[in-house]
Amino acid sequence: MTAPRSRRGVRARLSDLCGRLVSHLSGTHAGPIRPLVDVAPEGRPLETPDVVFRVRGLCKVYATEAGEVHALRDVDLDIVRGETLVLLGPSGSGKSTFLNILGGLDRATSGSVRFGDLELTRVSVDQVTAYRRASVGFIFQFFNLVPSLTARENVALITEIAPGAMSPEAALALVGLSDRLDHFPAQLSGGQQQRVAVARAIAKRPILLLCDEPTGSLDSESGVQVLEAIQAVAGDVGATTMIVSHNAGIARMADRVIRFRDGAVVEVGVNDRKIAPREMTW
Ligand code: ADP
Repeated sequence: MTAPRSRRGVRARLSDLCGRLVSHLSGTHAGPIRPLVDVAPEGRPLETPDVVFRVRGLCKVYATEAGEVHALRDVDLDIVRGETLVLLGPSGSGKSTFLNILGGLDRATSGSVRFGDLELTRVSVDQVTAYRRASVGFIFQFFNLVPSLTARENVALITEIAPGAMSPEAALALVGLSDRLDHFPAQLSGGQQQRVAVARAIAKRPILLLCDEPTGSLDSESGVQVLEAIQAVAGDVGATTMIVSHNAGIARMADRVIRFRDGAVVEVGVNDRKIAPREMTW
């Protein structure tokens, strides 16, 4: 595990990555893309200080009765440890497909996703399951809690199978729900249910926290509370966070904003000043 980098260092690195991605998109490489320095021996954890995921030429084609759907077209992106990315773009532009492939829920048609020495596009089903279980937390629009289990039990579903997870009580304390441990989902507001889902996602201390429209079914105050919880706990566990949203306001809490259109990344922006969820115009 490397020491946290200074804000200025991280920002300089992000600007550099952004510049190289933009030059790649415009077809004018300023220079060779630096290789990962992390070809870790079998079984060793990732040692790259900066880049956690290196995505190159990622394509996803769905074969449907109506013909082929190109959900992702040749996406390149380096994702830095601990950064928050917000993915924007019209419905159907490929954001969820990108998230799902990085999270090991879906397989690419071609291209590469490197996570340390793991090539996610080529690993076996067992390896991808182990990766997902140990390293990825998911938060979806519709909280996906089990209605017949309490908040504590919903979180325990994950903590019991994830290696090195914190206790359900500790995870629920991080999202401000210590006084709701034994409540069932039906006894909680939508925002509280989503915070249980946040606790469930981060209890395993994931390297990657994937949030697909996490505030999509919440009112603005609950949405702010959920985003605050995501931001705080992701910071606590040092997770790299990717948030898909239709709400362009959310983009201002990101380190970088990735815009998708028609399956391609068309713009990568760096926020010079991130704002807190409470400062956002909803
Ligand atoms: P977004 O998250 O930006 O709304 P998606 O990644 O969900 O976009 O979808 C990208 C494209 O891929 C869309 O055209 C969608 O209809 C298509 N798609 C997504 N999943 C499937 C699937 N399982 N089968 C066929 N087409 C799919």
